[in-house]
Amino acid sequence: MSTADSAAHAGTPLQPATTAVVAGRPAPTPDAPLNTPVVFASTFIGGGELEYGRFGNPTWTALEDAIGALEGGDALVYASGLAAANALIATLPVGAKVVAPNHAYLGSLTQLDEAQERGQLTRVYVDISDTDAVLAELDGASLLWIESPTNPALEVADLPTLIAAAHAQGVLTVVDNTFATPILQRPLEVGADVVLHSATKFLSGHSDAVLGTLIVRDAELHARLVNRRTILGATPGPMEVYLVLRGLRTLALRVERASQNAAELVARMSGHPALAELRYPGFGAIVAPVFPDAATAERFVAAAQLARFATSLGGVETTLERRRRWAGEVATIPEGLVRISVGIEHIDDLAADLLQALDAAAEA
Ligand SMILES: *Cc1c(COP(=O)(O)O)cnc(C)c1O
Repeated sequence: MSTADSAAHAGTPLQPATTAVVAGRPAPTPDAPLNTPVVFASTFIGGGELEYGRFGNPTWTALEDAIGALEGGDALVYASGLAAANALIATLPVGAKVVAPNHAYLGSLTQLDEAQERGQLTRVYVDISDTDAVLAELDGASLLWIESPTNPALEVADLPTLIAAAHAQGVLTVVDNTFATPILQRPLEVGADVVLHSATKFLSGHSDAVLGTLIVRDAELHARLVNRRTILGATPGPMEVYLVLRGLRTLALRVERASQNAAELVARMSGHPALAELRYPGFGAIVAPVFPDAATAERFVAAAQLARFATSLGGVETTLERRRRWAGEVATIPEGLVRISVGIEHIDDLAADLLQALDAAAEA
């Protein structure tokens, strides 16, 4: 976790909470809109920089400026988090070795599995929280894929150690920073090459848009990714980009409140007899109670009323689901693990709901 400033304004570094509000704004010329509006255009008058809607869009540029300033690099927006993941994987040479977490976002793992089946790459899965185990696999790798905290197991990687070792061996590193957000963790500042987000989640924050982003430090890699995005076409719609930009303005407030709620919920829920375990990485807004079996976990989910049963995460509202309800979820994720995405409701209302749901779960 970093506390360094992420942007500069008139020579003075800005705090992330300020950057989230002001980065990507238009210049303050009279009658310019204060904030960048949504530009619906498939084509532009020729001879300029944009030309066509798959090459660029002024609303994309505003969001890319804002996310880039927050993470400390150059951002590209994509149609979804998985489109961003695929764009990065597509840059690897055939036969590349990829070291990745054995527990991570299911879609990312599925992309790596399918790429291996096609003979495009070899993936090696590791426990990303076991630093020695990761280091032991770096030899000959092209890419170290980190997700921290991991979805949904909530393991935490030692970012500085892993990234430094990867660099020493010429291994590119990507960090899926979806769970921590740039408010709590900025991997580029500790040397990562690429940061990935499902902007669908906390960056957007209102459960109303699907979008992804890559943020990179290297200008050459950035240019290559822009070219590939133009050709492969996994581009986002302007409305989604606008919604994420609008949501991003309150990122710091939302993450702050949701993180406080999560910590307080853990304090109030821990020790409840219905629980086998209560996973919480010590920061962020995702909490994962583990019940002794699937049936108890399902009773908990069904009993929650304020917290809604839904997949996805990072919205202002609290949502929860038993992850193993998905057939493809990794078999080492406990059957009774429920992922709770803690929202910004009042803690007393939230705690009352989840504590009564724990009581209901305990009554077999
Ligand atoms: C949701 C998610 C993704 C995939 O993003 P989409 O926007 O759903 O394509 C990738 N990584 C993590 C950690 C996620 O939670």
